[in-house]
Amino acid sequence: MLIEALPAFSDNYIWLLSDQHGNAVVVDPGDATVVIAALSERNLQLSGVLITHHHFDHTGGVQALLEHASVPVIGPEASPFEHINRIVTEGECIPVLDRMFQVIKVPGHTLDHIAYYDAKGGHLFCGDTLFSGGCGRVFEGTFEQMQSSLSKLRELPEDTRVYAAHEYTANNLKFALAVEPDNTQLAARVAEVRQLRAVNTPTLPTTLGVEKATNPFLRWDSPAVIAAANSRRQGASNESIFQVIREWKDSF
Ligand SMILES: [Zn+2]
Repeated sequence: MLIEALPAFSDNYIWLLSDQHGNAVVVDPGDATVVIAALSERNLQLSGVLITHHHFDHTGGVQALLEHASVPVIGPEASPFEHINRIVTEGECIPVLDRMFQVIKVPGHTLDHIAYYDAKGGHLFCGDTLFSGGCGRVFEGTFEQMQSSLSKLRELPEDTRVYAAHEYTANNLKFALAVEPDNTQLAARVAEVRQLRAVNTPTLPTTLGVEKATNPFLRWDSPAVIAAANSRRQGASNESIFQVIREWKDSF
């Protein structure tokens, strides 16, 4: 299975998965034009669409793609997005090209958010839940839900490649450095990302191992992150470390 990033809008990636038989699946096609052009250039036939959550920049191209090819649109239950025709639930395994992808419910950014995990290949498609150096804003769920969703992802093997849906890494790392100025692995990641972005190369996929070492939103139990969060607290508060860090980032 080949996996490519199709840049869309200002900072989205639509992930294009293809096999040697010319079949393709796209994850979160916010823009159909980008997908149709990529399929035609590569002589690929669309065989399915995966949706992580209902936001328009992840789903806006689906209707036009369905006019182009009548394919399964796989997505979460109880989603406000109306074009899902194959609903999947927590723990379900679905065939995607020559692989089996497992569905992981990750509410928080939105309530319908799911991630797709290919255990055999070590690939995770996590939409707007986990970014490199950051995590999605908590729009619909609670901070507890978001942290619990991220802890599920944190349990996956360290060499899991993480295919997030946005190129937010450089900005996220500025905040990560404010939280953990003495994290040497973070400093190395900042240097690596600077080089990649200088030549307009995606910083994704990242790996879970890199994220566990550098991403403050997977490090709520690390002493440096706890200390940074506690220094931001105003008076007595019972907000979690995760919530303090997430709200700090919202106003950063
Ligand atoms: Zn979103």
